[in-house]
Amino acid sequence: LSDRLESVFKKFREKGKLDSDDIKKGLREVRLALLEADVNYKVVKDFISRVENRALSSEVIESLTPFQQIIKIVYEELVKTLGGEAKGLDLGGAKPAKILLAGLQGSGKTTTAAKLAKFLKKKGHHPLLVSADIYRPAAIEQLKILAQKVEVPFYEPKSNEKPLEIVKNAIEMAKENGRDIVIIDTAGRLHIDEDLMQELIELKKTFNPSEVLLVADAMMGQDSVNVAKIFNERVGLTGIILTKIEGDARGGAALSIKEVTGCPIKFLGTGEKLDAFEVFYPERLAGRILGMGDILTLIEKAQEAFDLKKAKELERKIKKLEFDLEDLREQLRQMRKLGSVKDLLEFLPGIGRKLNEIEFDEKELIKMEAIINSMTKEERKNPRIINASRKRRIAKGSGTTVQDVNKLLRSYEEMLKLLKQMRAPGRFQSMIRRLI
Ligand code: GDP
Ligand code: MG
Repeated sequence: LSDRLESVFKKFREKGKLDSDDIKKGLREVRLALLEADVNYKVVKDFISRVENRALSSEVIESLTPFQQIIKIVYEELVKTLGGEAKGLDLGGAKPAKILLAGLQGSGKTTTAAKLAKFLKKKGHHPLLVSADIYRPAAIEQLKILAQKVEVPFYEPKSNEKPLEIVKNAIEMAKENGRDIVIIDTAGRLHIDEDLMQELIELKKTFNPSEVLLVADAMMGQDSVNVAKIFNERVGLTGIILTKIEGDARGGAALSIKEVTGCPIKFLGTGEKLDAFEVFYPERLAGRILGMGDILTLIEKAQEAFDLKKAKELERKIKKLEFDLEDLREQLRQMRKLGSVKDLLEFLPGIGRKLNEIEFDEKELIKMEAIINSMTKEERKNPRIINASRKRRIAKGSGTTVQDVNKLLRSYEEMLKLLKQMRAPGRFQSMIRRLI
């Protein structure tokens, strides 16, 4: 999904201004990208109309380029679709708190039970693991081994105990041992069937767990969304854990599941290892789907680093050839700000790649700025008056050498010469980069 969106946004980016036609065309592409990513049809429709309404309305932020504005809206709507704020676990109710895990066979319940136990243990909790999957003896053994791995106590069922008895005894054991959370792994089926549902309904009714979490395989795309819908209607869920999310390159399940079921995603399983487990943050996943990491930070920084108003003013001056050393200093400052965010932006695909072509020599920028700082206002406005004695004074004041001052002045002269060919400040910055 992110590749596709990236190419859509690239088209936006090349344009200076967007009109409603551009927005419509662009959003058509976004729509296709989402559908191809196996996002539920209705979710896509709602999503696009929300973005379009906002993009067409007069909600305009002056300091952002049209491209950044569209990205910002798409990003914010993605976050909303994914559930807005991260929802933590509810561990209220009778002690010990119970967390019931449900889901189809192979969705990752047993693995997730152990991951969750490990996660909660790290948070200072004292979980206990129990498996109610009596239909497959190997399943109980599997959880037992995982429990040992994460060093969490495990309730060992007696040979003829039924699920309800197993869980009841596990809760007793938790009480006796001062455990505050019981994580209940349950049996899965290959398909949804009535027995499975009845068993879950009964477990829920009997023990009133504070969380009933569906473990769903993100790689199943729309199917996992349908499964979630049915589980929620029949059993009633408090949340969803999406597993194998690292394999869901298309991102469809994550985007649809919250909208379709109304249940928040609470955790993500990101691999087979027991620490491949994370709290679900809508912002992060939205960033990943856009292929742009933490995009809001990016936009904020870009806003700071490149003030559009100042850029326009500079453009005007360049056209009139009014560019003096004060303007150069302003440019150097902006470039330095860009330099400091470069590390941050580097990991962002697309944008990161572009930035990589640019070499920031921060030391050189600081030096040039220092030299200009040591000049008088008069000298900055009219560099021609800088004679040998002035150069010596400036070099001394800025802790540089006369050669450095000469180099800066030469660069400035070069820039002036090139100015006639320059139009956009962006090109101007790249010219400065070549000169230092
Ligand atoms: P259960 O039948 O629902 O209990 O599923 P299991 O916990 O036995 O997991 C089924 C398979 O999925 C196992 O091979 C797990 O290692 C694997 N698995 C579970 N969670 C993840 C995950 O987040 N990512 C990946 N790649 N594999 C996972
Ligand atoms: Mg299992």
